[in-house]
Amino acid sequence: MAKEERRVLIETEKEDLLRKHHNCYICDESLDGYSREEIQFDHIYAYADGYPQELSNFAPVHASKDERKLNCHGAKSRKSPIEYREEVRIKKQLKTVQGLSDVCPSAIQSTNVISPDFKSITFNGVQLPLYNQRLGLKDNYYFFHEVETKYIENDNEIQLRPLEPKILPLVFNLKNSIQLLPSLARIDPVSKTVKLFDGQHKAVAQIVGNNRERIPCIVFVNPDVNALRVTVYEAHTDFVQQRYKKSHIDSKLADIYGQKIEAFRRKIGNPNAPYSEADILRGESVPTIRNFLLSSIIKEVNIVTDIIRLYAAESRTDQKEHPILWQSIERFIAKFCNLNAIEEVSGNELNYRSDEIDNLVFILTLIEEYAINSKWSPDNPSSKAHKMCRTFFYRTAFNNWLNTIEEAIRFSMEQMRGAKIYGALCYQKEYPPEVRKRVSGIVQRLFDHPLWVQESIQDEIAKTNQDSVVTGIFKREGLDYIYLTKL
Ligand SMILES: [Zn+2]
Repeated sequence: MAKEERRVLIETEKEDLLRKHHNCYICDESLDGYSREEIQFDHIYAYADGYPQELSNFAPVHASKDERKLNCHGAKSRKSPIEYREEVRIKKQLKTVQGLSDVCPSAIQSTNVISPDFKSITFNGVQLPLYNQRLGLKDNYYFFHEVETKYIENDNEIQLRPLEPKILPLVFNLKNSIQLLPSLARIDPVSKTVKLFDGQHKAVAQIVGNNRERIPCIVFVNPDVNALRVTVYEAHTDFVQQRYKKSHIDSKLADIYGQKIEAFRRKIGNPNAPYSEADILRGESVPTIRNFLLSSIIKEVNIVTDIIRLYAAESRTDQKEHPILWQSIERFIAKFCNLNAIEEVSGNELNYRSDEIDNLVFILTLIEEYAINSKWSPDNPSSKAHKMCRTFFYRTAFNNWLNTIEEAIRFSMEQMRGAKIYGALCYQKEYPPEVRKRVSGIVQRLFDHPLWVQESIQDEIAKTNQDSVVTGIFKREGLDYIYLTKL
């Protein structure tokens, strides 16, 4: 299908638009004082996304090159005007909002009547089921409803905190994602209003971002405010759920990536259809693509070897039991693997993803053999071998030898191949035996270097948190890629 030419407006059409729009379509500020050269006529809905090119899909926007004037056209970058206009509107509105009390300044009174059997409540004329969380002898009635914002106000007795900066990303998140949990509110017996005491961020995000006139709420009927205040406080302090473990996040990401591939294949109607990462991940940001690929590489590695499960630490404290920090594993993969989405479809001989896993596992197994096996013994933490092993995997030491070993392997492979090697060292055809032999020698020399056994150096490394200090030690002790590649 031939692509339609991008429409160029003629002068009279531009004049028509300027008669219709007195303000910039993006920021809604006046266009007065802007010459014709300082105004651009943008597609409201992106032409690139296939929207029509009628005159009604064009609007004038500020586009001044004068630094003292507005350049909304330049600022929107690659976003469509309608998308960027929404972003500008939200940011502008949030500047004036410190809390729910700014978007719902004063609620009108609600009416509520509980049925004689306490099974339902008529709230503002709507009959709703009533529930009870009975504690001991005390009843705690509540109901669920989408409450109109005009009935809602902030609960100044329980909800004391202002909005946090996370409100901005939350607003954009809730424009595209479903809200999982309702806000919490109570009916105040004196003011007869619905006071929202938890979930203020969600409520503001829905009102500002999605112009919602109703907010999903769990509403408690005349609860004990003091008890509730304590409960809310504890919920936000003592009972805050543990943050997700890095390994869980990585495995979740790998699952999502797997589902994307499945969805792609379903669309084509062939469960084994070859796919390219570039197709699957089109439209995702560079960091997102890296995270997807990194997590799927970890998943693949875990199918072949136990090394990550056995030796990866989820946190600094966990490093007492497991030598390798999770961030070090990720760094290792980022260094040796290709974290760009590749165009070659799966199964193509120029797609090296499965060779990459083989090569990576090969190097990881060497590290296990020379740095961990018969050295790491958390049951005997004062042993010399254990201390040395711990030194290998201090973050600063690791970051340094990771660079050195990569340099050494690249140098050797280039020597053997007689040609420069571009890109990630594992993203290559499966290493032939002679390369494996060289790599094995390099890893062995690294962990056999005399610096590691010296207790004074172990202490130096243990004390620092700066990579550059260990860089200095390596230099002083002669541990570099030349040393590692000596035959
Ligand atoms: Zn503007």
